[in-house]
Amino acid sequence: MGIGVNKSPLSGPDSDHHHHRPIVMAAGDGEPDPAVQQRPQLQSKKVCVVGGGMAGLAAARELRREGHAVTVMEQSGDVGGQWLYDPTTTHGVVPSSAYACLRLRTPREAMSFSDFQFLPRDGPSRDPRRFPGHREVHFYLRDFCAAFGLMDAVRLNTRVVRVAPTSTTTRQRQWAVRSVRLLGGPDDDARVEEEEEVVFDAVVVATGQYSHPMLPSDIEGVGEWRRRQLHSHLYRTPEPFRGEAVVVVGCGDSGTDIALDLRRVAREVHLAASSEGATPAVSRMVANHGDVLRLHPRARRLHADGRVSFADGSSVVADTVIFCTGYGYSFPFLDTGGAVAVGDDGCVVGPLFEHVFPPSLAPSLSFVGVARKVLVPWFVEAQARWVAQALSGRRALPTEAEMLRSVDEHFRAREAAGVPRKHTHHHIGGIDKMIEFMEEYGGLTPMEDWKEELLLSSMASMCDDLETFRDRANDGENVRKGLQGWRGGLDAQAQYKTMDAAAEADGLAIDD
Ligand SMILES: Cc1cc2nc3c(=O)[nH]c(=O)nc-3n(C[C@H](O)[C@H](O)[C@H](O)COP(=O)(O)OP(=O)(O)OC[C@H]3O[C@@H](n4cnc5c(N)ncnc54)[C@H](O)[C@@H]3O)c2cc1C
Repeated sequence: MGIGVNKSPLSGPDSDHHHHRPIVMAAGDGEPDPAVQQRPQLQSKKVCVVGGGMAGLAAARELRREGHAVTVMEQSGDVGGQWLYDPTTTHGVVPSSAYACLRLRTPREAMSFSDFQFLPRDGPSRDPRRFPGHREVHFYLRDFCAAFGLMDAVRLNTRVVRVAPTSTTTRQRQWAVRSVRLLGGPDDDARVEEEEEVVFDAVVVATGQYSHPMLPSDIEGVGEWRRRQLHSHLYRTPEPFRGEAVVVVGCGDSGTDIALDLRRVAREVHLAASSEGATPAVSRMVANHGDVLRLHPRARRLHADGRVSFADGSSVVADTVIFCTGYGYSFPFLDTGGAVAVGDDGCVVGPLFEHVFPPSLAPSLSFVGVARKVLVPWFVEAQARWVAQALSGRRALPTEAEMLRSVDEHFRAREAAGVPRKHTHHHIGGIDKMIEFMEEYGGLTPMEDWKEELLLSSMASMCDDLETFRDRANDGENVRKGLQGWRGGLDAQAQYKTMDAAAEADGLAIDD
């Protein structure tokens, strides 16, 4: 048992990625799967993928593998989504929420596309660590694009502004995608915007879930606060807060990272945590830096005189409040007449069958990357493969009524279990449930035991010490042996060669 990886051996760049016509394919490798259609003639569709982050790239790869014609529209000047670090935050809401000190929380060995490992690479700017910084993840995604020749499908600096069905009848439904191409930088006075509308057979929405900051509704006085306040979305480095007293609201991943980052330069850092947020690991972290860090219960009110008060009635005077309070879903470009919508203050997208297909618009509209608490990129790869195969006709979807019933049951089961609505898209059931999905819909097989062992031991290590877990290796025999084969094995060598050759052909400088 383990987390899914592809059974197939390492494959090089897709050779079939320029097909624009119906293609003939075998119905599947290995054991016949009853959900897979035994049809010799599969459909090749013209598909638009909105977003060139990890999920959009996974979609592009899987759609091409299945023989579809793909266009990826990405608003930024490069692919990578969250991992394309943007030091400037002067333009309000920006695509990436990454801060300068951001490092992976997942070991790189256990975080890769099923047939494209996240191997450490040589090169002056590369970061070979197990938990590398954001830049290395960006390099990996560019390597992935180069290896599978995806960049020619990507239109950069292209923001999708409207996606609407061209017809209400299922049989002829296509999608009009309006986009704006930005020529010149955001500061450039001479910037030109070129608008275009193109009709596609299908649209895959892969715009991520970490770009639309959510502010807590239960803190009073936010409007009265005269000092600095910001969301973690716009936090980049600690320097602007030197010598300040800062209140960090929320102590999830960003809250703890940012509090640790700030403690190097700030005078005081006050971490306001809900009861479930104040884990033993957080308490230990605060105790280790008791000279600067303090832990408080939930923040209740911001006062015009600069005080922040907490649920226990205590208060501190602060210069800045940083809200590390998460993100909501937002698809401002989607115009489906209400067939799929965002509700519950940005927490729920629905209805979505298995977090992917809106029943009344499936399979021509789909979402990759809505599910939360999943292992990426594996999970989005499985979702993307499912979408690609549903579009080609290789895999059948249940009827609209069945999908709606399943969504309904999902909601009712969660409600009965007392799961808050804001966790609607959390994948519950841990690794086992994730594997079930990957096997059922993505045709992926379990990952090697040593990777699963490494993943679980890393999680335990993180719960033990949030500050040092990334730099404490304590591998057992099984992991050590697995690592040797992973780094130096034949698959690894083949992958390095593929990447180098593809990068050269594409003129992509991988190491710059
Ligand atoms: C601070 C932080 C730390 C994280 N740490 C980890 C970690 O340690 N491990 C881990 O596995 N994951 C982590 N994640 C999760 C991370 O988001 C995923 O790894 C992954 O990047 C999600 O990919 P995505 O493609 O779904 O979304 P994104 O990376 O957000 O990509 C979405 C893309 O869509 C584009 N886009 C949006 N709207 C439009 C539009 N209208 N037109 C055109 N393009 C558009 C955006 O520009 C962006 O490039 C972290 C996230 C954050 C914010």
